[in-house]
Amino acid sequence: MRARTMGGTTISAMHLPTRRTHTTQRISPWLPLTKNEPHLPTSQTELTERIRPLANLWGLGDNFLTLDTPNYSLNKDQLLSVLSLPLPGEPGWNDPEQTQILQGLYTAANVVCTTHHQDKVHYRGLLEFSNICRANCNYCGIRRSMHLEERYTLDEDTIMEVAKWSAERGYGSIMLQSGEVPTQKRTDFVAKMISRIVDETGLGVSISVGELPDHFYQQLKEAGAKRYLLRIETSNPELFAKLHPPNQTFEKRLDRLRSLKRHGYMVGTGVMIGLPGQTREDLANDLLFFVEEDVDMIGMGPYIFQRGTPVGDWWEQENPLLSEATRQGEKATPEQVEVLDKHAAAMFELTTRMVALARITMGDVNVAATTALQTIHPTGREVALMRGANILMPILTPTIHRANYQLYEGKVCIDESAKQCRSCLELRVGAAGKRIAYGEQGDPPHYTKKLQTAGDRF
Ligand code: SAH
Repeated sequence: MRARTMGGTTISAMHLPTRRTHTTQRISPWLPLTKNEPHLPTSQTELTERIRPLANLWGLGDNFLTLDTPNYSLNKDQLLSVLSLPLPGEPGWNDPEQTQILQGLYTAANVVCTTHHQDKVHYRGLLEFSNICRANCNYCGIRRSMHLEERYTLDEDTIMEVAKWSAERGYGSIMLQSGEVPTQKRTDFVAKMISRIVDETGLGVSISVGELPDHFYQQLKEAGAKRYLLRIETSNPELFAKLHPPNQTFEKRLDRLRSLKRHGYMVGTGVMIGLPGQTREDLANDLLFFVEEDVDMIGMGPYIFQRGTPVGDWWEQENPLLSEATRQGEKATPEQVEVLDKHAAAMFELTTRMVALARITMGDVNVAATTALQTIHPTGREVALMRGANILMPILTPTIHRANYQLYEGKVCIDESAKQCRSCLELRVGAAGKRIAYGEQGDPPHYTKKLQTAGDRF
C-alpha cells in the first residue's frame, strides 16, 4: 500500500465549508449540561457539606478531602461502589440520594484538579498524520483489514505548516498520532518531524504511533519527543485477547508501555469504556492499573460502535435494541431515539465517573477530555473538564483527511477546520469555569525529577 502524500497545499486551502456544526447538533435531554454541574466550593464548609454523602458511601469521615488535599487513594471497593451506582436508564438513576453522591464525586474531582492545575486547561493539538496501519485491532475503524477510501500520510511540509500554525496561536504542545508502521523508514520520518517541530516551533511533542521495538522508542525520544500515548485498552488480559488478533497480546502491550517509561517518556495510557464483555469490576481494575503503573497521563473514552469490525459485530449481538436503532439512522422511531439517547448518556456518565475517580485517586495526573466523549455529547468535553479532566486535544488534522481517520462512526468535527476547533473550544472552556493556558506544555512539577531519574537508568 502506498501512501498518497499532499505536497505544498496551504492549510487554509484545505478547509472545506462546514456543513454541520456543534450548535446544530441536538442535545439529548438525558445528557448533563455545564450549567447544571456543581461549581467549585468557595469554602471548606461548603466542600464538607457537599462531599458528605460520598464520604458516607466510602465509609470515610467528611474531612477526607480538604480544599488542598493533593489526592486520596481509593481502594477497589470504593472505586466499585461509585462505578456500580445506577446509570441513566437504569432503575434508581436520579434518586436524590444518588444525585447527591455524584455531585459530591464531581465536586471532589474538580477540587483535586484545581489544587494541581488551578483553573488551567492545557491544549494538546492532535495531528493524525497517517491512517496507514499494520495492526488489526478488532474494534478500530482504521484497522489493516478495513477498506478505506484513502490511506494517507501527510508530507513534511504539511506537518510543519500545521505545527507552525499551532505554535503561532499559542498551543503549548502537539500530538502526532497515526496507525502502527514499525519500520525504520517510518521511524526516521517521525523522528525527523519531531526534531523539526521542536527546533522550529518550540512546541512540546507527544506521539502516539503504537507498539514499536525499543530502539525505535529510543530514536524518537532522542529526536525530542516528550510524551507517548499507548492505551492498554483494558487491563483485563482475557478481554484484551478478544479485542485483538492473536499476535497482539496483553503481555506485549504491557511490556511496550513499561519500555516507554524506561526510555524516559511521560507515559500516557487509557482504556475504552463500555466494551462488550467489560464489567464494572474491570473498570475498577483499570483505575488500579493506572495507579500501579504510575502513568503520567490518562485518555479514556467510550467504546463507539464501528460497523464492519469484529468487536462491532459482538456489540451488535450483545445490544440488539441499540443495534437496530443504530441501523435505522435518520429513520429511527422516537422510541429508538430514546434508546440511543439513554445509551449515550450512560456511556457519558460512566466515562466521566472514571475521569473523576482517576483524578481523586491520582492527583496531579494529566487527564484528557477526549474527542470520543464529545462524539456522544456535543458539549461533553466541557462537562468532563468540570469532572476532573485538564487536557483538551483540539484536532489539527487537515479537514480533507478527517473523514479517513475515523476510528469509529460519527466522530465529531470531521468537517471542521483547525481554526473552527480553536474558537469553538475557547468558548466551551470558559463555560466550564476554566481558561486555556496558552503557550504552556502542562508538565506536572515532578516531571523534571522523573526525567533525571530516567536519565540515570539509561
Ligand atoms: N495506533 C496508535 C494510535 C491510534 S488509535 C496506537 O495504537 O496507539 C487511538 C485509540 O483510539 C486507540 O488506542 C483506541 O483506544 C481508540 N479507538 C479505536 N477504535 C475505537 C472505537 N471503535 N471506539 C472508541 N475508541 C476507539
